[in-house]
Amino acid sequence: MSEQMKQYIDEAEAALLHTYNRYQVVLDHGDGVHLYDTDGKRYLDFVAGIAVFALGYNNREYNDALKAQIDKVIHTSNYYYNVPAIEAAKCIKKASGMDRVFFTNSGAEAVEGALKAARKYAYLKDGRTDHEIIAMNHSFHGRTFGALSVTGNPHYREAFEPMIGNIRFAELNDFDSVMEQVNDRTCAVILETVQGEGGIHPADGEFLKKLRALCDERDILLILDEIQCGMGRTGTMFAWQRYGVKPDIMTMAKALGCGVPVGAFAMTEKVGAHSLTSGDHGTTYGGNPLAGAAVCKVFELFEKEHILENVNRVGDYLGEKLEKLAQSYDFIEESRGIGLLRGLACSIPVGDIISRALEKGLILINAGSNIIRFVPPLVISEGDVDEMIRILTECLDETV
Ligand SMILES: *Cc1c(COP(=O)(O)O)cnc(C)c1O
Repeated sequence: MSEQMKQYIDEAEAALLHTYNRYQVVLDHGDGVHLYDTDGKRYLDFVAGIAVFALGYNNREYNDALKAQIDKVIHTSNYYYNVPAIEAAKCIKKASGMDRVFFTNSGAEAVEGALKAARKYAYLKDGRTDHEIIAMNHSFHGRTFGALSVTGNPHYREAFEPMIGNIRFAELNDFDSVMEQVNDRTCAVILETVQGEGGIHPADGEFLKKLRALCDERDILLILDEIQCGMGRTGTMFAWQRYGVKPDIMTMAKALGCGVPVGAFAMTEKVGAHSLTSGDHGTTYGGNPLAGAAVCKVFELFEKEHILENVNRVGDYLGEKLEKLAQSYDFIEESRGIGLLRGLACSIPVGDIISRALEKGLILINAGSNIIRFVPPLVISEGDVDEMIRILTECLDETV
């Protein structure tokens, strides 16, 4: 590492709040599936800014669309209409079959909005103010108070108690555990279609179908958090489309703008017509013209560049390669995931493996302490997978 980079890192540690243990690298620019640090060293990127940069870095058309929008107007206000946001909402409706969209600036905010919509929906039905929400253990929904309250990881919550009230936790893929928590005050069940931060755990189809039936029977809202697993990452535009189980509300962010901070929650007309209304919710930036332009371009490029096909093909290939690794090393317990959202669950902490990979020019990330997570740009090729496996294998051989 150059003196210059060391200095940047020292300056960062002196100026930024210590909320992250950062890897020792200062990233500077990107191109395709590669990132470059300030010393000019090249890295193969299997993180994509945590499932954000789906299209790869420095995509010419995407960059040009943003530049063109910057030259027109970046921000107006939600008190006025703007064309990019209108078009972006239409893209989400078309891709998801949902009916109404609210744009936010982040994933956590999308979750906040979804929770508010669910409570309001129930409130309008019976006027009560003690409704409950069921969330899953090991889930992750964000760091703001509402989102944190439904995050099933006590370690993230403890120091910030009390959380918002009336949240109950159940076990993913254990329908009985959900039934134990349901009562006449339950207004929503929230879960990630594929748990990301919690360790790459897909919900199973039977579980989702039973949840859907339960929610229909009792008029409980099913909220699916698609912030990490949505936008093509599992090979369908949204992960729930694989199971044919449609949520009442869903949340999006991460790859939705491919780097421009934008999230959204979308709902069916049933919820849209009977929940949040004028004055109930708002945001200054959410859905501004720059964010709208990014979302529109992302959807356009997903089609034009056949992103879903690539995810299905290369995702299967990655899955096979990871399965082989899992069989070759004692300390790898399992390879799991779908498409280009995958994990290697290990019996040991993976921090050292990831640091060594970084030194060798490969960017990986963990999910929890023992899981190596693979969330590359969705444009990666089989050759990129081979290169990643080659470097990772070196790192694994150096372990133990
Ligand atoms: C990242 C993530 C969030 C939070 O998104 P932010 O943009 O960081 O607020 C919420 N839910 C899931 C499933 C996520 O992966």
